[in-house]
Amino acid sequence: MSLPLPPPPSYPALSYELFPPRSTQAEDSLWRTIRALEDTRPDFVSVTYGASGSNRDTAVGLLKRLLNETSLKPLAHLTCVGNSRDYLMELVDELISSGVRGILALRGDQPRDSTLPEGELHHANELVELIRRVERLRTAHLCAGKVAVGVAAYSTKHPESPSLEHDIEVLLAKQAAGADFAITQVYFAPEQYSRLLRTARRAGVAIPIIPGVIPFTSVRRLERLSELAGVEIDAPLMDRLKNADDDAGRRRIGVRATVDLAHAALDDGAPGIHIYTFNEHAAALDVLDRLELSRPPAVGLSQSA
Ligand code: FAD
Repeated sequence: MSLPLPPPPSYPALSYELFPPRSTQAEDSLWRTIRALEDTRPDFVSVTYGASGSNRDTAVGLLKRLLNETSLKPLAHLTCVGNSRDYLMELVDELISSGVRGILALRGDQPRDSTLPEGELHHANELVELIRRVERLRTAHLCAGKVAVGVAAYSTKHPESPSLEHDIEVLLAKQAAGADFAITQVYFAPEQYSRLLRTARRAGVAIPIIPGVIPFTSVRRLERLSELAGVEIDAPLMDRLKNADDDAGRRRIGVRATVDLAHAALDDGAPGIHIYTFNEHAAALDVLDRLELSRPPAVGLSQSA
């Protein structure tokens, strides 16, 4: 006999993606964004990590500042491409020692420079296993608690994958390795996320799959993203953005499209919304505002008598 499922949480999870700053000026602007996003009380903020660990120090530095100077809970992205097992184990250990309790385990994009070392782990599921191994070694320090391990999922086929079915097999392997949840790559059409959820559940993927959405407000950024992530851009949306009268009009169109996408995902049963911010808060907050996401009440100190 199967036990009844617990009731779902009464509000969806909210999270944002940030990337480590590349200059002092970018850092100042990022911290204005962090403070603005903090006010919306997200469940976590994720911090990207360069493939091969190219920005390790700035990424770890930002994670530590988030832990020490804000109320935010960081999710550290970690890529395994180009690195040895020992290097990755030492880094996971450093993250746990710093207080990080969430890691997004990724392979990372293959370097274009073929002279760079290949690394010892070839796929993200192996990194999930490695994180779990370090976690077991650290059980006492974690008070027998756990690190939440997330992985990437794809609403449209991963560019290197032979098929959508293969992507689901890969997601199953990540779950079997110990992943707790997944966040999707950017996508444009509601049915792409619905299909991912449906086929993943049918195949036995039980972990939450959080849709990752980007504020569709910049034509240049969408073009660049499509190039980098291999995701085909929605042509009618692109036309509407390009034909907008001005920036304000473009922003209205883009925010509306993002909100529609997020609403459709929530209607399909998405457990939350992850917003790719590109380190800018204005468009992300516009999306959040129009999304009217129910949020838990603020937990504050009670008034002293
Ligand atoms: P994998 O799951 O290893 O998949 C890579 C390819 O190998 C896929 O084609 C898959 O089908 C195939 N594959 C996987 N496992 C197997 C297997 N066992 N046998 C055979 N084939 C297999 N990149 C960064 O560099 N830094 C970041 O911070 C970052 N953050 C991201 C956050 C999110 C939410 C997402 C969705 C992506 C992010 N990426 C980031 C990009 C990501 O690194 C790339 O999409 C990368 O190409 C694949 O990463 P993965 O973890 O899905 O790899």
